[in-house]
Amino acid sequence: MDCVLLFNKCYKCFRPVKSCYCKDITPIDTGIKFVLLMHPKEAFKQKTGTGRLTALSLIDSEIIIGTDFTRHKRVNALISGVGEFAQYYPVLLFPSKDACFADTPSLRQAIGSKKLMVLLVDATWFLAQKMLKFSKNLMHLPKLSFKNEYRSQFHIKLQPDPSYLSTIESTCYLINELKTAGIARSDADPAGLMSVFQKMVTFQQRCTQMRHEEEAIALHPELFD
Ligand SMILES: [Zn+2]
Repeated sequence: MDCVLLFNKCYKCFRPVKSCYCKDITPIDTGIKFVLLMHPKEAFKQKTGTGRLTALSLIDSEIIIGTDFTRHKRVNALISGVGEFAQYYPVLLFPSKDACFADTPSLRQAIGSKKLMVLLVDATWFLAQKMLKFSKNLMHLPKLSFKNEYRSQFHIKLQPDPSYLSTIESTCYLINELKTAGIARSDADPAGLMSVFQKMVTFQQRCTQMRHEEEAIALHPELFD
């Protein structure tokens, strides 16, 4: 489906039309369900928000916007393990002492014949901490963390630590670890996620450079004659 354009914004990814990447996205089937718990501030962020690109790139995914999910109907249904949701084994992507890794044998056993459902928080580091503090129902979930250490390849986000990854990077690395562990589908290639992200970063860097050039010309026009 083509992007629906609304006020020069792509209605699908909520980005300005000139930086819409919908045409570059090829959704992949990972065999895992992803639930992105998105902070409202992230929801309409155009420049650096990667949550929507992530969700558009993954076949079985959904975005839920909020801050405190304790009484959130959809979230509670998803993690209830009842009825149509009995097919899922929900985990929260969260680094903690009691978190397991993709290759922890007990994780595989716990998943059994179910489908893994990864809930992840899409917000800045500071807001993510707050959201999880509020959402008591999420903190009771089994936790999954990265086995390897990653550093964000790009520095367009203001984060306290370069090891804080953007949502699209986190998802990509996690899929790779789950693939190695034999949990994600072996034919799921998350490289597309990174290439869309790289396009976004390149565009962003170009914008910053252009802005700097414009500022420089305004300050010292004689240098640009
Ligand atoms: Zn778009």
